[in-house]
Amino acid sequence: MIYFDNAATTRPSEHAISAMLSVLRDDYGNPSSQHSAGQSAAGLLFAARRKVASILGAAANEIFFTSGGCEGNTMALISAAEYGGSQGKRHIISQQTEHHSVLECLKSLERRGFEVTLLPVDSEGRVSVGDVSAAIRSDTALVSIMTANNEIGTIQPVSAIGQLCREKGVLFHTDAVQAAGVLPLDVKKLCRDMLTLSAHKFHGPKGAGALYVRTGVPVTQLIFGTQERGRRGGTENLPAIMGMSASLADAVSIMPIATERTAALRDALIEGIAALPDTYLNGPRYDRLCGNVSFCFGNITGERLVYELSRRDICASSGSACSSGMSEPSRVMLAIGRSTELAKGALRLSLSALSTADEVEAVLSAIRDIIYSL
Ligand SMILES: *Cc1c(COP(=O)(O)O)cnc(C)c1O
Repeated sequence: MIYFDNAATTRPSEHAISAMLSVLRDDYGNPSSQHSAGQSAAGLLFAARRKVASILGAAANEIFFTSGGCEGNTMALISAAEYGGSQGKRHIISQQTEHHSVLECLKSLERRGFEVTLLPVDSEGRVSVGDVSAAIRSDTALVSIMTANNEIGTIQPVSAIGQLCREKGVLFHTDAVQAAGVLPLDVKKLCRDMLTLSAHKFHGPKGAGALYVRTGVPVTQLIFGTQERGRRGGTENLPAIMGMSASLADAVSIMPIATERTAALRDALIEGIAALPDTYLNGPRYDRLCGNVSFCFGNITGERLVYELSRRDICASSGSACSSGMSEPSRVMLAIGRSTELAKGALRLSLSALSTADEVEAVLSAIRDIIYSL
């Protein structure tokens, strides 16, 4: 099998698996218990929190463990909205190609009386800092712009937007789920108030994530209970949290070498597909996630391509994992100006540090076969 769907999820690393197994077997105490088993679990939990915090340049008490990206995004948006609402600020700024979890949460906030400005993106999927600046009002509670797009790999000018928000005194959140292990995540440098991570996108387990929230920004409780300093109830999923902290540390430590290597494979794939007739690259040619390749095809739908690749034991995607399976054109493709017809023809191939040049060759030759046999 060739797995080129790393934007949907990644293979857990051996390090993450062994960290998880060890806790499952030997440290099953509840971190809230006072006895030795509980205290030992609490010690591991604190070490994991400190490790994740130090990687982000944050303090340990600024990290909230969650079930992943959707929960982190929801927690960030609801928290900022309620905090803003309490000060009479009911306006939120975001952009059209955000993850479903952000867009759906914003819709729900609209039903609760918030006003949402969804900024457009350019033909490469980039939001303009000038547009963000012009959209900020005295009643703006939050700006939420993803660090990088999961479908077309566009990297947003997040540090400039973070700087702008800080100058204007507006809270800023970024969904950095696709950026972990790919781009530097220093929250202080990027002036970020809130940042979302999800472990299964960087070779950790599913069902674990972290939300960074700057000290001073109040967090709304979505799940009631005493854990996470009373902000997120539920006995901590310690095995998954240990797997996440191990895989995040690994992802960050190999980042300089891994991203360069993955980008070279990505470029070979892009050049190979671009040489085929009637193919259109989605997102920027260079300044994009090192593992992301996305194309529209004029003469075959993305779904058909994914199906044909799957018959050859190659895992790819026709959009985001959440929107594929629906035959609607992707709203990300429409946002960058693709016609409804072309938008149905999207193919996403997403690589990881585990991908190889042989796999790239095999996938290119499979795509050539499929296209020329039609
Ligand atoms: C995968 C993904 C999410 C959702 O993360 P889960 O852990 O699956 O809830 C959110 N945002 C982006 C950009 C993603 O790629």
